[in-house]
Amino acid sequence: MNTLADGPMAVDGGLRWNHRFAALGPAFFTRLAPQPVPAPYWVGRSRAVAAELGLPDDWMSSNAALEVFSGNLPLSGSAPLASVYSGHQFGHWAGQLGDGRALLLGEMITPTGAGRELQLKGSGLTPYSRMGDGRAVLRSSIREFLCSEAMHGLGIPTSRALCVTGSDHEVYREAIETAAVVTRVAPSFIRFGHFEHFSHRGQHEHLKTLADFVIDGFYPECRVTTLHDGNPYAALLEAVSARTAATVAQWQAVGFCHGVMNTDNMSILGLTIDYGPFQFLDAFDPGHICNHSDHQGRYAYNRQPNIAYWNLFCLGQALLPLIGEPEVAMAALEPFKTIFPAALEARMRAKLGLLDARPQDRELIEGILKLLAQDRVDYTIFWRRLSGHVAGDATEAVRDLFLDREAIDAWMLHYSERTMTISRWDSANLMLKTNPKYVLRNHLGEEAIQAAKHKDFSGVGRLLVLLERPFDEHPDSEALAGFPPDWASTISISCSS
Ligand code: AMP
Ligand code: MG
Repeated sequence: MNTLADGPMAVDGGLRWNHRFAALGPAFFTRLAPQPVPAPYWVGRSRAVAAELGLPDDWMSSNAALEVFSGNLPLSGSAPLASVYSGHQFGHWAGQLGDGRALLLGEMITPTGAGRELQLKGSGLTPYSRMGDGRAVLRSSIREFLCSEAMHGLGIPTSRALCVTGSDHEVYREAIETAAVVTRVAPSFIRFGHFEHFSHRGQHEHLKTLADFVIDGFYPECRVTTLHDGNPYAALLEAVSARTAATVAQWQAVGFCHGVMNTDNMSILGLTIDYGPFQFLDAFDPGHICNHSDHQGRYAYNRQPNIAYWNLFCLGQALLPLIGEPEVAMAALEPFKTIFPAALEARMRAKLGLLDARPQDRELIEGILKLLAQDRVDYTIFWRRLSGHVAGDATEAVRDLFLDREAIDAWMLHYSERTMTISRWDSANLMLKTNPKYVLRNHLGEEAIQAAKHKDFSGVGRLLVLLERPFDEHPDSEALAGFPPDWASTISISCSS
């Protein structure tokens, strides 16, 4: 096995670490090392994330880096641990969960001085693995890697992904698959479930330690005494609600379904985390369920905003011992009900190229969503074609998407009346930066995954390039912006990954 110094560039001395989460104390985690995998290979790497972390290109190409990000070698200065959390899954209290297949390596200090936690996901058993094997399979790891970077490219708050490594080590799911490890990156991986864990156990000292840590590290404004009568924990609940509302508004606007919005998958920073059976909508179907294990449709596309609120309510309940009165917690949650619709409306206005807000905009937005749903129009293609229509005059390309031509003509008339006084140039500019040409559709991910199973990782790399810049044209990849093939609707993705 290699040592770090064998790499073209020894990273040892160059990395600075902070271990702030570990400083919370042993009640919050268990220290342990990753379990090695045989003969790892690279599946995908993000140069952008490496650069942000200050990891040199030549080191990222080294065998030492490959061994590090497979869990076979320690990254110098890291101190791996698995954290403990609990959560509500599919509406029910699930008790203790925890990092069952992820390890926090620590918090790296980037060249700009920002703190970034690094996690290996799929690195083997932890004390929180329960019935699981601590592993992640190649397909789900590719999906998490690509989607993390796709969401970032779309401007949506998310954990990032540095790389994916694979191994022929066998993993048993419905069939025999192979193992992979994703290295993911975020300012913090703390979840609503971390708070629920200590609250449910009546460990209010730990609950306070955690809340103070999150406030001081990420929400210092909550200490301002004019907020919530100087109750920083109520202020925290409100601030988390606001960030969550803003993120979910972006999901809805771009047509992203998370698939498993359990409270243990909700980031305290309002980031999109824990990519599982997610999906970007193909045809617009408000009730679309992307997770095949979600038989009730609890996490259907159009239920995501309500579920976000439900999850925030759970967070509020967990914070009650610190907040005090339930009325205070409820008051802190209240702004979600106005922030979310306002954020969504602002996003939808941008999609329509509207530069200011007018009262009739809501009708225009609801009108087009109704038509998109009625004719099951491809969501991404519609918005991109509408942008093209505003940029040039491709009205037919928009009309062609609809069966009910009369209805779309009537809507287009309203739309042109509304936009008459706006500069087409400004509108088109906004729309082309708001309505992506490329999203990680299921079938695109699937094609890259099938090739990767045969050790051809070119599809992963090609998608990464597109998804990092989803608003650009990429003329060579036009076909990847097209309609999904018929077989796309037969792809079945569940929690088991
Ligand atoms: P998820 O549905 O991926 O958010 O996972 C829910 C919980 O199950 C978390 O505590 C995970 O760490 C754990 N988990 C999921 N898959 C595995 C696995 N293969 N091995 C161990 N734990 C797992
Ligand atoms: Mg999870």
